[in-house]
Amino acid sequence: MSGKRPLPFEMGGQQVQPGCRADIAIPAARLYTNTPLDIVARVVHGKKPGPQLLVCSAVHGDEINGVEICRRLLKHPALKHLRGTLIVVPIINLFGFTQKSRYLPDRRDLNRSFPGSERGTLASRMASRFTSEILSRASHVIDLHTGAIHRSNLPHIRVNTEDTAAFEMAQAFRCPVILDSKLLDGSLRETTSNMKIPYILFEAGEALRFEDRYITAGIRGILNVMRHLNMIPEKKHRSPPVTAVLATNSFWVRSTRDGVLSNVVSLGQSVSCGEKLATIVNPLSNDEEAIYSTGNGIVIGATQIPLVHEGEALFHIASFDKVDVAEASLEAFEEANDYPPLEVEPGLPS
Ligand SMILES: [Zn+2]
Repeated sequence: MSGKRPLPFEMGGQQVQPGCRADIAIPAARLYTNTPLDIVARVVHGKKPGPQLLVCSAVHGDEINGVEICRRLLKHPALKHLRGTLIVVPIINLFGFTQKSRYLPDRRDLNRSFPGSERGTLASRMASRFTSEILSRASHVIDLHTGAIHRSNLPHIRVNTEDTAAFEMAQAFRCPVILDSKLLDGSLRETTSNMKIPYILFEAGEALRFEDRYITAGIRGILNVMRHLNMIPEKKHRSPPVTAVLATNSFWVRSTRDGVLSNVVSLGQSVSCGEKLATIVNPLSNDEEAIYSTGNGIVIGATQIPLVHEGEALFHIASFDKVDVAEASLEAFEEANDYPPLEVEPGLPS
């Protein structure tokens, strides 16, 4: 089978021949002006058969790191030797992206509207179109996210560890932290899981920012998964591997009062139960109160805005059986990504 030339790849009524690329526009919605809005799938169809990997981003419209990951991924020289099909959807939530917003114009979260309905509201129709026209054509999915606005996440993978194929993809990504997180109602992940398609979610950085090292880490991770799926050849000179460490649990530390936050710890730092994480001060007096960790672990998410109210989530901390192993993995990851941006070939079609 592996030596055979694959059939053309079909999507949205178009055919992409083996060894060719195409941008396929799927009509998804219309503006108030009746101007059509298309979700664009950028398809690279290999000369040899293999999996159909969907890489998608900006289902939350303001989470834009993934949009740049998609752009650079499509220029990577390794795709010259592609087996199977790479389907890249840089922007799912077109409304949110153009408005710098997580949501749709009706304030709905597209990532709580799956699988959607052709007869539903705007969010539901967009979700339905994406599910039937694009997701249904994929055999594996990598979904790219960042923290919400004013929240930054350490690069990590979210996956259902009970799905063996997905968990193997998560390990292959070689991101230092893997979180086994619950399926959220109406999420793309829930629908993908119901369709029995292995799915992983990459979280890194914060909304409305391009963070180069996280973008680079995302591209490297996707290429690692593609090597694992035998879609591209192994690298001749591999950098030292980063071992992904599965977190046993994660928890949030919340603000105990209203005020101005001054962080003591940063993303990626390991903390112990009872360790001081930050101080909250009253800007109009000498009043201050320390915030302490309620468990051991590594800080994988943190608020980036120093104005906080009581009860607000400040730090997301992942727990591990062996924190020192996770720490070593983080160090290796930072070293591996402390290089200039990945090489791309300017001549390749993008
Ligand atoms: Zn998101």
